[in-house]
Amino acid sequence: MTITTALQNTDDLKKNWSEVQIKLKEIYGLDVYKSWIQNVEAKEIKHNSLTLVVKTRFVRDWIVSHYADKILDFFQKLDKSVTRIQFEIHESFYNQKNNQTNIVDFATGSQIADSKDAGYATNRLDHRLTFSNFVVGESNQLAFSAAKRVSETLGHYNPLFIYGSVGLGKTHILNAIGNELKKTDKKIIYLSAERFMYQFVKSIKNKDTQKFKDVFRNVDVLILDDIQFISGKEVTQEEFFYTFNSLIENQSQVIISCDRSPNDLDRIQDRIKSRLSGGLVVDIQPPDIALRLQILKNRCKTEETYFGKEVLVNDEILVFIANEFKSSIRDMLGVLNRIIASSRIQNKVPTLQDAKLILKDLLNNMQSVITIEDIQKLVVNYYNLPMSDFLSSRRSRHIARPRQVAMYLSKKLTTKSLPDIGRKFTGRDHTTVIHAIKKVEELMAADKKFEYEVQDISNKILKSN
Ligand code: ADP
Ligand code: MG
Repeated sequence: MTITTALQNTDDLKKNWSEVQIKLKEIYGLDVYKSWIQNVEAKEIKHNSLTLVVKTRFVRDWIVSHYADKILDFFQKLDKSVTRIQFEIHESFYNQKNNQTNIVDFATGSQIADSKDAGYATNRLDHRLTFSNFVVGESNQLAFSAAKRVSETLGHYNPLFIYGSVGLGKTHILNAIGNELKKTDKKIIYLSAERFMYQFVKSIKNKDTQKFKDVFRNVDVLILDDIQFISGKEVTQEEFFYTFNSLIENQSQVIISCDRSPNDLDRIQDRIKSRLSGGLVVDIQPPDIALRLQILKNRCKTEETYFGKEVLVNDEILVFIANEFKSSIRDMLGVLNRIIASSRIQNKVPTLQDAKLILKDLLNNMQSVITIEDIQKLVVNYYNLPMSDFLSSRRSRHIARPRQVAMYLSKKLTTKSLPDIGRKFTGRDHTTVIHAIKKVEELMAADKKFEYEVQDISNKILKSN
């Protein structure tokens, strides 16, 4: 291998690794990212094996048991040659590289006692997540009322255990409670269970567990998000249990979220399960269409207030999004953001068709994929042609033109490649497809009526799908 290709490979590796890191951040959230992923470095790829460098054995074990599959999965999407991941534990690697003082995660030393870090818990509340912008519907009504009740009267339900699958609003509700209580003089700690565990293990390493205990056992309210992460880790469970018990005994409020009910937690000791269920257990169900639509509308309003600028997304599009993206509110809002962003960049009100194009990659993953056959059928109907003529080699204008339109729309509305498209038109060559696309574009630019016709067909295809 020459030096330049070696350098090139290192660059690619770095680039791929940071892309994977970003994806991990998206799916696991900022806390997990900062605690476990951010400071991991990609060192090399040799014999199909990717070497990642971490600082401690513990971090390695944790990553292996929790994230390694996903890491490999993501990495393979970028570089198929990698079939394995291995780890190197290398303290000095970091000492040389990271001198910034703001890296708490992998730093040694007694960070937990730092004034900055002692506030880690409360600082992580997201002030944008409040009760007032939480939209209530049938599916989250119970969780919402219980959370409100607890923030008004501490100890009313203790612990309060809220569960539901991802993206349904658990973190939002927990933050809303925290933000409400922040207005009082109560001492609150809000953090993810993963973070709790990480801090605890760090305190063991630093022989600082007393401080850890003091911090956690002297609060009025402990809000712990995503408690499923504690399962399986014996020492942390133990510590959690003691903290938990002493808080409840002191009549401090504990609020917990989880992706499943206490009973469905595996690898968690039974006594912890029964303690977790000892207060009120409520679930959040997937939202119905009315709630989804209302959440979208509210988000548009928030955006308008925030940017002081009208959001150019009409109801037709909101209904479409609410219908297509059902399982996670987070995903649904992500989709809305994408459309808003694109309408801002292009400074125009998107049509339903525009929206579908913006979301093409997402929609193609779902059932309603537009196929080339769909397009051909519609075009044939539109121009009232027999399919056999349409697919034949005949070149007379009244057949060739619709065929070109169909090729053009196949490129525009599907993710198929030019050769793929050619094949579907009785084995035509990809250059024929290119020619067709050019021709249609030229005609559309020159002839408004024709442009309208193509738009009309395109809309019909999108609507029928
Ligand atoms: P979870 O913690 O259950 O995975 P989140 O609380 O992070 O889900 O919610 C995902 C996104 O959806 C957040 O942006 C949140 O603000 C939003 N969201 C969820 N439920 C609602 C709701 N009922 N009203 C408004 N926004 C909501
Ligand atoms: Mg969450």
